[in-house]
Formats: sequence, structure tokens, C-alpha cells
Amino acid sequence: MKRSRKCDWWEFFTKPKQILLLISLTVFVVIIIIYFLSWQNNNRSFKKFWKNDHYYDFNNLMYRDSIDAKFEGEKIVHLDLKGAPPKVSYYEKLFPLLVKLGATGLLIEYEDMFPYSGPLLKNVSASNAYSLEDIKTILKLAEESRLSVIPLIQTFGHMEFMLKLKEFEDLREVIEYPQVICPTHEKSLSLIMHMVDEIVKAHPSATKIHIGADEVWFVGVCDRCVGILNKFGWTKSQLFLEHFVGKPLIT
Ligand SMILES: [Zn+2]
Repeated sequence: MKRSRKCDWWEFFTKPKQILLLISLTVFVVIIIIYFLSWQNNNRSFKKFWKNDHYYDFNNLMYRDSIDAKFEGEKIVHLDLKGAPPKVSYYEKLFPLLVKLGATGLLIEYEDMFPYSGPLLKNVSASNAYSLEDIKTILKLAEESRLSVIPLIQTFGHMEFMLKLKEFEDLREVIEYPQVICPTHEKSLSLIMHMVDEIVKAHPSATKIHIGADEVWFVGVCDRCVGILNKFGWTKSQLFLEHFVGKPLIT
């Protein structure tokens, strides 16, 4: 007697082994679908498709440099020149390379590599400091590469280049360490302002300066500063801020 095809299938799937096989297959297919959907969703959430060093920006429908994807603001490279300043000719190669890597500006920290000329500061410049002509050339090269320049002028900590000299020893906040200038010494503000004046004049196109003020390890330690803290009832944080925004703190 001939059995119908429908009956064959029905019998096949009513046996326990086949039911187990069917369930296993169903679970496998569901797992594959969930995995695929999850992968697709993750890709969309990044909104980018990497291709070599570029990615496809689905929002703007365009390929973009991968470096642009990480940060949209100014990309400033800090040139710390103390100790071993590059030859001026080196910048001819360096600046275009920095631009290629995504830089938009330079933060130039001269310390003793600046040619100070005023009577107060003339001994601060190192023997291998740049000349004003060198600086003009560096700024011209930066301009040619469309790099903005921000001069960094240390005004509180990182003052070793000045405080290491015998003539400025008494301006140290802590006599044993030439790192921090005392904000209440009568000569400190004048020295800092002369330094700012000279560097700003040498950067006529600069629209910003950086005043340092990081890693000021000692604040309100010397007798003068302790006297100011007691006199005004200030915390050390207040003394720190007053150095930049308050009236001259000369005792
Ligand atoms: Zn002090």
C-alpha cells in the first residue's frame, strides 16, 4: 500500500530523535540570526567603515581621514625646546609632517632658548639660544604650513631655567629647589612680566599665550607667603590664583 508524503513527514517529526534534531537546528539558526543582527547593529553604531587609513562617514556620506575621526578641535603639538633645540632648517621638514599627521598648531616652549635682551633677563638665555631672526624664520615656516603658534611662557612652576642662576636664587619658593618662583617676592612679578613682554613682542601674530602653571609643587611655603596666607586668611589655592588674577602680592 502506498503511503502519502504527508504521512512520511509527520512520522519523521514525531519520533523523539528527530524532534531533538529539529529543536537543535532551530536554536542554531536563531543564534546565527541574533549574532548577525548584533554585528550589524555594532557596525552602524560606530558609523564608520574602515578602509586603510580612511573611514566612511555614513552621516556625511564621505570618506574621511581616520585621524579626523578621533578629535574635531585644534590639534596642537608642544615643542619643548629646552636643552636641545632643533636647527631651524629642521622645521622645514617637521612642520609639513606635523600637518600631514593632523596638527593645526604649535605650542612653543622656549625657556632658556629665547634670546632675552632686557637688563633683568639677559643672563637667562642659554649660549645655544635662538636669535630673533631664527624665531622669525620659525614663525614664517609655521605660517607657510598654516600652523598657528602659541608661545608657552612659564610663570609659576617649571622655572628652573631661571631660578637655577645665582642671581635669582632668592626668588625660589623653596631654597633647595629651583622649580617654583615665589609669588610674593618683590622681584618675581616684574621678571615674569618682562619675560611675557619680550616673548609676546617676538610673536606679533599670536592671538594666545600659554602661561604654564602646571606642576607648581610648592605654594605658600616660604616665610613671605606664609605671612600673606595668615594676613588674608587665604588657603594655598587662593594664593595660587591670586598670583594670576589678583593685585601684586608684595609684602
Ligand atoms: Zn613665597
